[in-house]
Amino acid sequence: AKCGPDGNFSKGEVVPFGPIEVSPSAGVLNYGQGLFEGLKAYRKTDGSILLFRPEENATRMRDGAERMCMPAPTVEQFVDAVKQTVLANKRWVPPTGKGSLYIRPLLMGSGAVLGLAPAPEYTFMIFVSPVGNYFKEGLAPINLIIEDNFHRAAPGGTGGVKTIGNYASVLKAQRIAKEKGYSDVLYLDAVHNKYLEEVSSCNIFIVKGNVISTSAIKGTILPGITRKSIVEVAQRKGFKVEERHVSVDELLEADEVFCTGTAVVVSPVGSITYQGKRVEYGNQGVGVVSQQLYTSLTSLQMGHVEDCMGWTVELSQ
Ligand code: PMP
Repeated sequence: AKCGPDGNFSKGEVVPFGPIEVSPSAGVLNYGQGLFEGLKAYRKTDGSILLFRPEENATRMRDGAERMCMPAPTVEQFVDAVKQTVLANKRWVPPTGKGSLYIRPLLMGSGAVLGLAPAPEYTFMIFVSPVGNYFKEGLAPINLIIEDNFHRAAPGGTGGVKTIGNYASVLKAQRIAKEKGYSDVLYLDAVHNKYLEEVSSCNIFIVKGNVISTSAIKGTILPGITRKSIVEVAQRKGFKVEERHVSVDELLEADEVFCTGTAVVVSPVGSITYQGKRVEYGNQGVGVVSQQLYTSLTSLQMGHVEDCMGWTVELSQ
């Protein structure tokens, strides 16, 4: 669907996946005026399809659009477009337990600009792809490295929204980490080089006794929907949950560490390497708390338990 700077998107249509045409001077290509979202559709054992909190993605895209000087679809338009795209591709939603259909909504400045300015026209589109587990290890623990020479966000920047440019800053740090055999990079804050921010595409939690802590949202980490959901699930299970500055020293002393995100769901961290030292958690096993939260969240997402949170949206076939 397309619209001008004042919004009011045209009615979209479902078309086969393929290349799209944009002007070489499109705002998105020259000035990074683009946002994306990521969510998943899961198949229940009875064959029906569930979306997980799609209105949260719609709202996050709207918040991001405000920061990026872009008009955005309404929550209703966004959720309707997601539903239509998934229904048109329902044969690609894997059977229960065999993965999910990853849904990628994109919003971009597709109109031509020469001088630095917001684009005169915008395009909203969605593509989908079946996916398995993000980390090849599955629910086995992942190994992270803290790269304190690289930062993905600074105060006042765009780290708090899901804009394409945030991922550009990650590419090299992630490549270095992977070359050294790590699954991903954990970033520290750019001001003190001391407080945990997040991993390239997921949020981070530490567990100490009955307390679960995660980095506070302060404009430099992405407000993850899985993060928000895990905070609620953990509180309901009786854990004390703190959203605050978490220092790297606390991380190294934690009982358990795990990451959350649409792609990674809940992934236990087996080790952290920081300034050449490696700290291991839970004898490289899957931590009890991580396992518990993973099971609670995925049972909801896959419709294995009754959705007492009201988080899933069942698609009418
Ligand atoms: N942080 C970053 C940088 C991400 O790209 C993602 C994935 N969207 C997340 C955190 C986790 O967010 P969510 O749980 O909404 O997928």
